Amino acid sequence: EARRKGTGAVELFNPSMVDDRAELVVLEAEMRRAIERNEIEVHYQPIARLADMHLAGFEALVRWRHPSMGLLAPESFLGLAEETGMIRDIGRVVLNEAGRQLGIWQRAYRSAEPAFVAVNISSAQLIEPSLLDDVKQIISREGLLRGSFKIEVTESLVMEYPERAAQILERFRELGVGLSCDDFGTGYSSLSSLRKLPFDTLKVDRSFISSEAQDHRAVVILQSIIAMGHELGLAIVAEGIENQDQVDRLGELGCDYGQGYFIGKPMSSKQVNDALAGLPYAHTSGRTAITWLWERAI
Ligand code: C2E
Ligand code: MG
Ligand code: MG
Ligand code: MG
Repeated sequence: EARRKGTGAVELFNPSMVDDRAELVVLEAEMRRAIERNEIEVHYQPIARLADMHLAGFEALVRWRHPSMGLLAPESFLGLAEETGMIRDIGRVVLNEAGRQLGIWQRAYRSAEPAFVAVNISSAQLIEPSLLDDVKQIISREGLLRGSFKIEVTESLVMEYPERAAQILERFRELGVGLSCDDFGTGYSSLSSLRKLPFDTLKVDRSFISSEAQDHRAVVILQSIIAMGHELGLAIVAEGIENQDQVDRLGELGCDYGQGYFIGKPMSSKQVNDALAGLPYAHTSGRTAITWLWERAI
């Protein structure tokens, strides 16, 4: 069934709907053309340091600017991309573009801590033999600061190939790539993956942050995740912050970073540049709680 998302995008390409192999081939061809025509875009959602609400970095989020259907959110096409293997090509576009953009920002601005960009990686991408070299090349080409280029993986991904994933993530760590455990608390084996894999950041799933999750149990769980993460030397990012109350609560709990519509919505690189230049970007988000404070490097 076609599902409407907040962005107005419709889920058109749910692979379970596509029972005809020929249909899949057509969609695959359309996606291939999308890459050739540069319709794959990367948007950037700001992540704030909760202590001062200053901009710390971004999560890179893929979008497809479809010629007739408009801006498509990942859930409307990533399923098919994974099914067809196109995710590897799309993923490469996202990594390249995000790395290029981070290089531009790092050369143009100084910030309290090095600005970072975190890119989501799918399982098909993670086990691609060329991934590590691709990332290595991006880092040296752009001269990215150590630890500033990050990848986000979910535990379900890691559980698909536990041994393989552990080896690959270890190589990334040696390369100085930041490793975030995405959507923490939703899959199973959360704790065992934290024990076995070299993560430096834990992203707490928004289901633990939402306004519905403010009962005593939810607060205790959140508190415990933050305390445990810190004991393990991990930085904690809270996902899905939608109001000031959540900012305050998470700050009190000692959470390091926050991400969510209240802090800033995903935006194009142009919108980010406007915001950094102090230009109005009201069309992006009515209200924002982040301070766009990066100093021009000259
Ligand atoms: P994710 O990695 O957990 O990314 C966060 C998602 O939550 C984003 O959705 C973001 O727009 C949304 N979000 C952020 N703040 C809020 C909030 O305050 N409230 C609510 N309700 N949602 C919020 P988006 O961009 O639609 O991406 C969905 C998922 O698609 C991502 O979840 C990630 O798993 C995947 N994805 C996105 N880009 C890529 C990519 O380049 N490669 C791969 N493999 N997966 C990607
Ligand atoms: Mg993510
Ligand atoms: Mg997430
Ligand atoms: Mg998520």
